Amino acid sequence: MQTLTNRAKLVERKPLSFIEKAYLWNILKGLIITFSHIFKKKPTIQYPEVKRPFSPVFRGLHVLNRDEEGRERCTACGLCAVACPAEAITMEAAERLPGEEHLYREEKYAARYEINMLRCIFCGLCEEACPKDAVYLSETFAGANFNRESFVFGKENLLIPNPKTDPEGYAKAKGIN
Ligand code: SF4
Ligand code: SF4
Repeated sequence: MQTLTNRAKLVERKPLSFIEKAYLWNILKGLIITFSHIFKKKPTIQYPEVKRPFSPVFRGLHVLNRDEEGRERCTACGLCAVACPAEAITMEAAERLPGEEHLYREEKYAARYEINMLRCIFCGLCEEACPKDAVYLSETFAGANFNRESFVFGKENLLIPNPKTDPEGYAKAKGIN
């Protein structure tokens, strides 16, 4: 028979022996492979009780930072939004009113600050662009959800716990042990 490549091989079809017909050797080979894995180091972990350490360059979900007095650091300058290659950040600025000095560090603050996590590529450019140390990427990753709206994170999802009212949550979010 003529073929295009001449790489075809004629396979000889020998009649199977009794052992081959019973698949005993193949079953034994499978069992040897299975049992050899019992003594190997297991690559799986008992998540979520056990967690793998993150790489030092891991970039997870964003956190909107507060200062030591619990005031929001963001001054709604918009530099993070401009730096964002995915156009994932939107915000609305507002003026701080007299008596709100304990809430906002600067005279202007973000009344609305949203990050669309479905657009975000976790590049970290927003963190680098921020002159106020107000946004950083933590070691937390996004949970699963059933609708797209749940992945648009507002201030209620992004703001770090207040160190005055929740020092433990603040320390945990900052990675302070
Ligand atoms: S990590 Fe990158 S893509 Fe995500 S919001 Fe920041 S700048 Fe945009
Ligand atoms: S997070 Fe930083 S860069 Fe973004 S608006 Fe606030 S202060 Fe500006």
